[in-house]
Amino acid sequence: MDVHASVKRIAIYGSTGSIGRQALEVITAHSDQFSVEVLTANTNDDLLIEQALHFKPNMVVIGDDTKYSKVKDALSSTDIKVFAGEKALEEVAAMDCYDLMLAAIVGYAGFKPTINAINAGKAIALANKETLVVAGDIVMRTAVEKRVPIIPVDSEHSAIFQCLVGEMRNPIEKVLLTASGGPFLGKKTNFLVNVKREHALQHPNWNMGAKISVDSATLMNKGLEMIEAKWLFNLKPEQIQVLIHPQSIIHSMVQFQDGSIKAQMGLPDMKLPIQYALAFPKRIPNDFPRCDFRKINTLTFEDPDLRTFRNLSLAMEALDKGGNLPCIMNAANEIAVYAFLRNRIGFLDMTDVIEKTMEKVSFIAQPSLEQYYESDGEARSYAADMIDL
Ligand code: NDP
Repeated sequence: MDVHASVKRIAIYGSTGSIGRQALEVITAHSDQFSVEVLTANTNDDLLIEQALHFKPNMVVIGDDTKYSKVKDALSSTDIKVFAGEKALEEVAAMDCYDLMLAAIVGYAGFKPTINAINAGKAIALANKETLVVAGDIVMRTAVEKRVPIIPVDSEHSAIFQCLVGEMRNPIEKVLLTASGGPFLGKKTNFLVNVKREHALQHPNWNMGAKISVDSATLMNKGLEMIEAKWLFNLKPEQIQVLIHPQSIIHSMVQFQDGSIKAQMGLPDMKLPIQYALAFPKRIPNDFPRCDFRKINTLTFEDPDLRTFRNLSLAMEALDKGGNLPCIMNAANEIAVYAFLRNRIGFLDMTDVIEKTMEKVSFIAQPSLEQYYESDGEARSYAADMIDL
């Protein structure tokens, strides 16, 4: 018997990021069940080298090709293959050496490797929500054609996915997508106008990468998640309700047609949904801290403040209209967040950039993949010109 037969071979796209690093912790704790075959980074060559020397993958890819020689030299005494550049990220995604991709690159940059992996028949543990926001119809259609499972890593979607196990034949009435509310919950526009990068990066419950932290502060993250939920669970916009739940204990809920509601709960720790996605359909033991309800004692819920956090309204508009609008919104948001993180624009300016770009770039009801790429490019350059980036 092949003792390695049950070892899942994992490619971690974005291994130097917050999700990527936590995934490596999960794998370290379960090295009998998972092996690391591919690691990728963009700019963090030092960490990629350190990870590669430790986990000894089959190959590594560094997105920024100016860093190729440094990585190659550092790994020259090993037989780890080293590649560099955007094209290599896409090509390696289609290679035979792994079973499951953890898609944990941030933003649109994660789209092409992920779609290539799906086309190559690889299972996907999806953290990169932007992939579904950009072209969810094409991604899900391709996954069905290739019989590829897409297992969500986002904690809310993992929660919904877990609530649906065993419910294949039971239609969903609606999903309740919970949101912590971010660091500015309860604040109004007169406060937000002065908010700086450092404030926006202080999330009360989760420790995440910079882009998603800003998205959480503006509530754009919840908007992206609504679109993600639509595609993952085949929902109509009116079946997705956002509920602010500051304690982040209920990660989301599903209401069925008999009015019964299932919730998935736990402490806010991304290692949990990461492990679930890697190990699915199994649940494997771990020693993460457990939730003690006697210490929590209150769980509260409220509607989001759409007048203050207008990014969420814009995302709802994109969700309703569909077509290339979510793709345009996503591109403008990436540019706006990039500019905000570099102190080039203020917190509320991000909404203006997104709104104007959504008005400006032509709407296409049923875009081809090529048209999605074009819409992304057009939206990025319009948004960047507006900010003078
Ligand atoms: P981080 O910013 O921490 O990490 C991003 C990763 O992507 C890094 O490995 C980075 O490489 C790599 N990367 C960035 N740009 C490029 C590029 N142009 N080409 C190739 N690789 C690139 O992000 P997170 O880990 O926080 O988030 C990753 C994804 O997971 C996002 O889509 C996010 O929305 C989603 N997610 C994250 C959660 C979290 O708790 N962090 C929760 C739920 C979803 P390098 O650092 O080497 O430059």
